Amino acid sequence: RLHNALQDMKGQLRVSCRIRPLSAKEKAKDSAHAVVPLDTSRVEITLPDLPPQVFEFDSVFRPDAPQQVVEEIFEDCRDLVQSAVDGHNVTVMTYGQTGAGKTYTLFGSKDQEGLVQYMIREVFARLSDHEDGQARKVTVTGSALELYNNHFIDLLRPIDRTGRQSPGVKVCVDAQGCVEVDGLAQLVAQEPSELLQILQKGLAQRVVAEHAMNADSSRSHMVFTVRLAAEGRRASRKLTFCDLGGCERLKKSQVAGDLQKEAIEINKSLSALSSVIEAVAGRRRHVPYRDHKLTRLLRDAVGGTAKVLMYVCCSPATSNMEETAAALKLASRAA
Ligand code: ADP
Ligand code: MG
Repeated sequence: RLHNALQDMKGQLRVSCRIRPLSAKEKAKDSAHAVVPLDTSRVEITLPDLPPQVFEFDSVFRPDAPQQVVEEIFEDCRDLVQSAVDGHNVTVMTYGQTGAGKTYTLFGSKDQEGLVQYMIREVFARLSDHEDGQARKVTVTGSALELYNNHFIDLLRPIDRTGRQSPGVKVCVDAQGCVEVDGLAQLVAQEPSELLQILQKGLAQRVVAEHAMNADSSRSHMVFTVRLAAEGRRASRKLTFCDLGGCERLKKSQVAGDLQKEAIEINKSLSALSSVIEAVAGRRRHVPYRDHKLTRLLRDAVGGTAKVLMYVCCSPATSNMEETAAALKLASRAA
């Protein structure tokens, strides 16, 4: 059903899959690959006592040399930068269980760039091409927001010892359905290096907030937004980079027992997000944006004329295969 709906809106929503290499720990435990890419659009997963299952995506990225893969991934979504320059909202998000490579894919690691760094450089390159033609000045700003336990934290503003901020930020929606976050810091960047620094500041503050609240960043969503505001034009457009919280399924025993509030909150937000995507894809009149803070925030980043690219990230290891199968199943419905 969702699959068919999404076929109708091809180009507006794409779902790709990235399989990371086995970690050292996984290699030590078992070197078997339960998840195998068959070609550039199909992944096969084999669970015990079941025939192999095949899932289809718009693209599949193998666990190869990291640099090569991030360049391939970037090539796969380079066109979205042009879409943003042309006036669409563009959203890239990463989905998957904790440790699957979501943050690595989107924001990179200490010694490896992620997708966002490539996209940022492309934004400025496209804008300078664009500006040559029509002398319209475009202002680029960056903002970074974390949603943890149903609570927003502006990652570009100071955070106190308890991880709180005052005043807090507030998500507002105008009559056109455009989202504004009141009180959110938006820092202007003149060139790629400045925007990269803004991102780094946000990533560093995410760690500070994590320590202050004694929290686990795998239980939070981080949204880095690049806004492009053209002089003399009211509506701006934006690129939204959303590193979603881990999609671990809750065990029955946990639900009954000492399950952390944050785990419940993450699951609520992810299920609200998939309902929204399903409704947008099905062109339903009612889209349940208001069901969660995350979906209110992402309203104009996934609805309207926005273009969305979701990466489902997964571990190839046998030890993770139950979680991986659940994530692939959910995400491939949207492929
Ligand atoms: P998540 O954000 O999904 O919880 P991370 O992005 O933090 O997971 O990745 C977990 C670990 O695996 C990190 O140490 C990261 O550097 C490593 N990693 C993830 N994806 C890859 C990859 N494609 N190639 C090499 N290392 C990876
Ligand atoms: Mg992460």
